[in-house]
Amino acid sequence: MNLTSYIRDIQDFPKPGIIFKDITPLLANPTAVNECLQQLLQNLNGQKIDKVVGAESRGFFFGTLLAHELNAGFVPVRKPGKLPYSTLKATYELEYGTDTLEVHTDAIKPGERILIHDDVLATGGTAKAVCELVERLGGVIVQCNFLMELSFLNGREKLAPHPVFAPLVY
Ligand code: AMP
Repeated sequence: MNLTSYIRDIQDFPKPGIIFKDITPLLANPTAVNECLQQLLQNLNGQKIDKVVGAESRGFFFGTLLAHELNAGFVPVRKPGKLPYSTLKATYELEYGTDTLEVHTDAIKPGERILIHDDVLATGGTAKAVCELVERLGGVIVQCNFLMELSFLNGREKLAPHPVFAPLVY
């Protein structure tokens, strides 16, 4: 099955010069969703995962599916002001300015084995901030996985030494 045919390129969205990778055709097709899910699971090789941490918002779709399949808990990492309980914050650099992500302070217990998931690995700034939150709570990062990696942006290097996997690589 060719998963790339379910990813739609949208030119100049959300701003000029960006080719947005639209995953909604993939989400709309249960066979493609299952193929993607199985590839993500296979790459984990049966390693034990206690919690899957998904980045807002497109990391929630497969993050929850993965958590269910792995019999693990799901932890949402969200944009500022969305989580109701006490939070830990990580601020990271964007092309212009900064952004912040938050996680509940009780979401991960020290020593828990964590899978981090998002839809797209681009520069790696988002996933790196998620890694930082997980490690500040004492979590052990087993892998960072994505539906796709934009390899020309070298995000993988920013996440070293954590293992990175994506079924689709551009
Ligand atoms: P980065 O922090 O640069 O790795 O960007 C990753 C985050 O931005 C992910 O949460 C993605 O959902 C989103 N993102 C970055 N680039 C793209 C793209 N070309 N198409 C769709 N989403 C993107």
